[in-house]
Amino acid sequence: MRGIILKAGTVIIGDGTTASDVSILIQENKIAEVGSQVASGSGFEVLDFSDRVVMPGIIDTHVHVCHDGTNPDPAEIKKHSDEYLAIRGAKFTEQLLNAGVTTAGDAAGRSDVPFAVKNAIRNGYVKGPRFLVCGRMITISAGRGSYSGSNEANGPDDVRRATREELGRGADFIKLAATGAISSEGTESFTTQFNQDELQAAVEETHKLGKKTHAHSYGEPGGINTILAGVDVIVHGHPMTEKTINLAKKHGTQFMPTLTTYYESLQHHDEGELPEYMIRKEKELFPLIEGGFRSSVEAGLEIVLGTDSGMPYTPFGPSSMEEMELMVRLGGMSEMGAIVAGTKNAAKALSIDKYVGTIEIGKSADLLVLESGLDPLKNISRLQNPESVEMVILEGKTVIKR
Ligand SMILES: [Zn+2]
Repeated sequence: MRGIILKAGTVIIGDGTTASDVSILIQENKIAEVGSQVASGSGFEVLDFSDRVVMPGIIDTHVHVCHDGTNPDPAEIKKHSDEYLAIRGAKFTEQLLNAGVTTAGDAAGRSDVPFAVKNAIRNGYVKGPRFLVCGRMITISAGRGSYSGSNEANGPDDVRRATREELGRGADFIKLAATGAISSEGTESFTTQFNQDELQAAVEETHKLGKKTHAHSYGEPGGINTILAGVDVIVHGHPMTEKTINLAKKHGTQFMPTLTTYYESLQHHDEGELPEYMIRKEKELFPLIEGGFRSSVEAGLEIVLGTDSGMPYTPFGPSSMEEMELMVRLGGMSEMGAIVAGTKNAAKALSIDKYVGTIEIGKSADLLVLESGLDPLKNISRLQNPESVEMVILEGKTVIKR
């Protein structure tokens, strides 16, 4: 076979533009041509979706396959062995793919679990998206609980050691804890942890390999440390203030607001299942999210899709699609802007934008064919129903077909 010709009514490119009545030629896993005049003749398989919308596969840059996304207590994973977490995690990657997520980034996990899941997908034993991992989160001592996966380091030289260690294990990006966290009991969200020079040491080591750094951060002091250290992506980030927004704009820092996990958790506060410390910290944070996020969008910060899937009430798959709806609803983003956050911007955040993220010649053929009548630029919330994605193509192969 010479390749696949996929005819589409509308193609959402992923860079903020669309094209109508075009064909995509897929050859050897890649997009070989896009346009109204692609190669024709015998030997091509033709898929006719000329009444449908075709878009790039979604990239969720922030999931945790060690956690299950339904249990209200993140410390639940203490009960399980690494082996159990890996087998369970492989099931979650299947859910991601099923929903139309063709690339995911695991934003910290225990031990070798994320690497095991990554290898099992790559070797074809389990179904899943292209799976990038950061290994363990790099934290200060007395930072995050080690049960969820942390590599403790103190002082710039030691942070350099930890960063090299995770990169040496094959991490695709580096995750740092710049402040305390909602989900870790002994810390306060807005308290800074790594100092700027420690964050900077990690950035220097990671950039040597052309990889990206993501820093978990809440509050203005942590945000300032993160941005001035040269971290590529500020994760959570809330509340974004005039100062952090201006600095992020100046330094080109991408912003990943992880809206779904807060929004969904808030819906369950009265059920008595979440740990008290999480409810307290979320109540402190949630009212501050929307204003800062809106201002960030208005200022033109590059927004990145990441959900924190695996955290309480943030299940794998539909949550990635819900994040785009919340970007529109809470942040005033356009539907197109939300899709760019989940395609082009997300690919950049994982340093894979040269070959993934948009429907362009030479890029990996990671495509979603949507159900008849669905235009996500008009109704993005419908993407949360996996049935709305009729076909998922990953690296030129049809991996989901309904
Ligand atoms: Zn997370």
